[in-house]
Amino acid sequence: MAPIIELHGVTKVYDGSPQSALDGISLQVEEGRITAIMGPSGCGKSTLLNLIGALDRPTRGEIDLDGVRVDRLSEAAAARFRRSKVGFVFQFFHLLDDLSVRDNVAIAAELAGSSRADARRRSDELLEQLGLEDRPNRYPATLSGGERQRLAIARAVVNRPSVLLADEPTGARDSHNGEMVLAILEDLNRRGQTILLVTHDEHLAAARAHRIVRLLDGAIAADVAVGRAA
Ligand code: ADP
Repeated sequence: MAPIIELHGVTKVYDGSPQSALDGISLQVEEGRITAIMGPSGCGKSTLLNLIGALDRPTRGEIDLDGVRVDRLSEAAAARFRRSKVGFVFQFFHLLDDLSVRDNVAIAAELAGSSRADARRRSDELLEQLGLEDRPNRYPATLSGGERQRLAIARAVVNRPSVLLADEPTGARDSHNGEMVLAILEDLNRRGQTILLVTHDEHLAAARAHRIVRLLDGAIAADVAVGRAA
């Protein structure tokens, strides 16, 4: 498969820090795959995701994502890129508490340029896919943790992003919830979604990912095909 993400010599040194958070990373991520990023706390996993998602810029190096030169985007272009090309799922959901379940998803589509009617249609389609179709008018505060997580995933994929970036989406939650989140990501992947997944969970990564890239001290320590890889 063609690479949808390419990194060449990507280094990140945070202001005031004596060492690199990432040190000359080169990596290609294939389209249509689930790639797990693993490694001990502080090894650079979140930094890597933030750079790929244009939430931050590398100190050196080149990042391409689906034809976009990510490391060179202006702030305005980076904001447009984040709305249209990437979806983020974080451990903390970033849901909008004053909007209904349906509108939490639809607003993300509207912000990216969809009409209100199209955004609502797409929202309803995703709520059905993620098993939330019976509660479109509820508010996030009234949902269970697992439902909120599913809603966050619906929001993240509403604009059909080239890549879904998931940072510890199973979080510190119970293992049943972790399994459920990973099953949803796998279902999205079967529909073609490319996923980059930061996780500490060896078992889930081995079962659900096609490939595991391990970081250590800001460098790639191992890169192996696993379980689901053909
Ligand atoms: P991980 O996600 O693997 O736990 P991070 O990418 O969060 O690792 O962090 C990599 C390194 O960069 C760590 O040493 C961390 O302390 C440092 N770091 C992360 N974010 C910042 C920041 N905003 N400012 C300064 N140092 C940071």
